[in-house]
Amino acid sequence: MSRASNFPPPFSTAEFVAEPTDPADERIEVGILVVGAGPAGLACAIRLGQLIEENPDVAERLGEVPVAVLEKGKQPGSHLLSGAVVDPRGLRRLLGSRYRMEDLPTFGLVPAESVYVLTRHTALPIPPPPPMRNHGNWIFSLSQLGRFLAERAEEGGALILPETSAQKLLALHGRVVGVRTGDKGRNRDGGELGNFEAGSDLVAKVTVLAEGTQGHLTGVALDRFGLRGDDPQVWELGVKEVWKVARPLDRIIHTLGWPLRTGKRYREFGGSFIYPMGEDMVTIGLVVGLDYRDASLSVHDLLQELKTHPKIRRILAGGERVAWGAKTIPSGGFHALPSPLHAPGLLLCGDAAGMVNIPRLKGVHYAIESGRLAAEAAFRAFQRGETPASAVASYDAAVRDSFIWSDLYEVRNMRQVFGHGFFVGGALASAMTVSKGRVEVGKLPAEPDADQPLLVTDRDVSYPAPDGKLTFDKLSSVFASGNKTRDDQPNHIRIERRVPKEVAQMWAHMCPAQVYEIGAEDADGTVRVELAPSNCVQCGAITAKGGRLTPPEGGSGPEYTVT
Ligand SMILES: Cc1cc2nc3c(=O)[nH]c(=O)nc-3n(C[C@H](O)[C@H](O)[C@H](O)COP(=O)(O)OP(=O)(O)OC[C@H]3O[C@@H](n4cnc5c(N)ncnc54)[C@H](O)[C@@H]3O)c2cc1C
Ligand code: SF4
Repeated sequence: MSRASNFPPPFSTAEFVAEPTDPADERIEVGILVVGAGPAGLACAIRLGQLIEENPDVAERLGEVPVAVLEKGKQPGSHLLSGAVVDPRGLRRLLGSRYRMEDLPTFGLVPAESVYVLTRHTALPIPPPPPMRNHGNWIFSLSQLGRFLAERAEEGGALILPETSAQKLLALHGRVVGVRTGDKGRNRDGGELGNFEAGSDLVAKVTVLAEGTQGHLTGVALDRFGLRGDDPQVWELGVKEVWKVARPLDRIIHTLGWPLRTGKRYREFGGSFIYPMGEDMVTIGLVVGLDYRDASLSVHDLLQELKTHPKIRRILAGGERVAWGAKTIPSGGFHALPSPLHAPGLLLCGDAAGMVNIPRLKGVHYAIESGRLAAEAAFRAFQRGETPASAVASYDAAVRDSFIWSDLYEVRNMRQVFGHGFFVGGALASAMTVSKGRVEVGKLPAEPDADQPLLVTDRDVSYPAPDGKLTFDKLSSVFASGNKTRDDQPNHIRIERRVPKEVAQMWAHMCPAQVYEIGAEDADGTVRVELAPSNCVQCGAITAKGGRLTPPEGGSGPEYTVT
């Protein structure tokens, strides 16, 4: 049986770590550099603004541009996608008395909730298991929350640079000193077009990587500084849609079971979420662990199938799809956290560090809290009596003392037990939840997603044909993501182009954006994989399953507004 990990992509860490190359007087100097305008990076920038206001003497030492935030999307929020039912702890600590939850762009408190175990035609209600209880949590569009947080960060003095991808980690004498941004205006072969703009060196005393899931520079930093945790990181892929609906949904809904298969040999773990967004919108998404084995599994098509279930069809009846998107979620949990969470001149936070509670499907509040704590550690580097090394090291201690650490410890083996199949895994997970993590099942082994041996079934035969009303194909979905990637830019996806057919089939089915096509078969049974990189919505699944996503030209990719 083939494994994608046997066909590694042409990629080396060394390619993406460099010394600054711009002449010293042309480098852009900033005090603290944040990569990524998601909840983690923006929380970091907001907290820095507060610290600067409270400590004007220290603020002077941060220079003319005290805080800069790089964002590869067209604007903050363009690449943000989530559920998003948010635990308010992180936002409350960050915003304090300045804002009430009601002042944020929210769709309100979770009104009520239901959990169903689905079969093809039935929906069995079950009492919400403890991790799925959402009393006191708030419903958001993460893209909209991102735009709100970006405005608060700018009010606090942060310089946000959209359409700017951080391509290389700048390191000097074993210490991170900033990043190099990507070039713009290159053609497919790398040649310079008329509007060519070279990237720049941005140098800073502390760089905070808040790149989110599958962070490009985070991956580079984990290898370069030996920060990988005890377990390999693993991921889930979530595909979601936003619908305008004819009738309001009065509760949040989670489902388990169908259209995923329960057999151990398939390793299909996941579930769906259906959340109301006010009176006239609903978001529906399906999340599936990328340690699945069947090369014909497509999360996009399973979501289409899910919508044909009578229970869900009723919710969407008379409605219209208004948005679509896809993104991975790190799910390795506590044992996969980087150790430590810092390197000289560098801090890691949010999804980039894998801070997600997967049984609860929650990461936004950990991203916000870790961004806040990263800001405090980075700011210390400018205080008298502190060395940069002691300042960044204080971040690890702060995370260990926070709810991030205790929450993730409680559910430390939760994801791994589902490797035993749905029923045994579910029973073990329940025991661990009820005992608040005190039931010891020992440390369970974890394997990288790309190491799973592949099997090929005819699962894809039963995916529903797109009707353009309830069910959609991948290309029209990419269009609904607002993707505007230039067709003739250099390819940003690294894969081995000649692989066994089942590996190519797996990539083609897995990619929600139809980037991979299976080319001609050779006498030795291998096939060439053809690529359409401009379809890519940067979900990150390819990095989990044997390839490597690198950031394309800044400003490319989806333009999410309500996801
Ligand atoms: C389908 C789905 C459902 C979810 N549901 C929930 C939920 O209901 N509740 C919840 O709490 N959590 C949920 N999560 C998880 C939650 O969305 C994440 O934990 C959270 O968004 C992490 O925030 P972050 O700031 O670390 O990363 P992100 O939100 O991913 O933000 C990272 C930002 O960095 C930018 N960036 C990345 N690399 C670079 C680079 N090299 N250069 C420049 N910019 C860069 C990206 O464009 C992005 O804007 C869900 C996730 C998914 C995918
Ligand atoms: S090419 Fe890779 S990263 Fe891009 S959408 Fe497809 S699976 Fe996701």
